[in-house]
Amino acid sequence: QKAEWEELKDAKTVTADGVHFDLAANIGTPKDVAGALDNGAEAVGLFRSEFLYMDASELPSEDDQFEAYKAAVEGMNGKQVVVRTMDIGGDKELPYLPLPEEMNPFLGYRAIRISLDRQDIFRTQLRALLRASHYGQLAIMFPMIATVNEFKAAKAIYVEERTKLIDAGVPVAEKLEVGMMMEIPAAVMNGDHLAKYADFFSIGTNDLIQYSMAADRGNEQVSYLYQPYNPSILRLIKMVIDTAHKEGKWAGMCGEMAGDQIAVPILAGMGLDEFSMSASSILKTRSLMKKLDTTKMKELADKAVTDCETNEEVIALVESYMK
Ligand code: PEP
Ligand code: MG
Repeated sequence: QKAEWEELKDAKTVTADGVHFDLAANIGTPKDVAGALDNGAEAVGLFRSEFLYMDASELPSEDDQFEAYKAAVEGMNGKQVVVRTMDIGGDKELPYLPLPEEMNPFLGYRAIRISLDRQDIFRTQLRALLRASHYGQLAIMFPMIATVNEFKAAKAIYVEERTKLIDAGVPVAEKLEVGMMMEIPAAVMNGDHLAKYADFFSIGTNDLIQYSMAADRGNEQVSYLYQPYNPSILRLIKMVIDTAHKEGKWAGMCGEMAGDQIAVPILAGMGLDEFSMSASSILKTRSLMKKLDTTKMKELADKAVTDCETNEEVIALVESYMK
């Protein structure tokens, strides 16, 4: 197995019938880039930028952020780095940015909701990202988008900052994709509309599952409801992929599920374009994909969303296919 993985490190991810999928890494800081490449990442599908904020004692300056994003894109050597704008709130706090006490922090003031409210913080981050985009293949995505208006508002602020930088003669990438996380069921249901404005979707299953099942992702007592293969979740995922493709956009996944060996055959069958996971799961997943046939996986995915009624039935179905 070690020898096979060593060989797979520099290989593309291709199925038995020759279809390519992108296997990307989730990172928290530019220091993680080395590990991502070492594990054969074809891109960074999620750079959780909030760690820059959490590791600091005050709001990181535009220059500090610029250096971090630049280091990440340069380190990836032309491979794409998708940076998610600050996703604070929920269970992530900043000591220097007191947030209101809330009954339901996961349903409250977090992520893009803070960014649209605290535009000073948001604009600083966007300028840093735009400046770094000149040094490699950078993409931006917004977390926790629930509505078309939120995406449009965030995109408009991005366009303003971009225009200002260009007018000031600062180099920014000519082509920079701006997409969004799909992690709120309401956004999934409006996917056809959102796909007109977003350049790509990245499915955040960690949150999408908790919001769909109304079960706190950190609460042990309701963890039995955390069911990634429940047909309800699979149907939402399929909607995201289909609505993206209808508008000619790509769909990825950066939640835990993207590296889950039961989920991967189904997701490949649905045509998910990019799988972003912890670096340590990449080679295992590439090895699995080599054995998959997309025609069979499509049949598997169709069966899972139409015939199966439960999480358990889907697991059994995948296991029988993999035999
Ligand atoms: C997710 O929700 O699936 C995700 C990738 O984001 P986070 O885990 O950081 O909330
Ligand atoms: Mg999330």
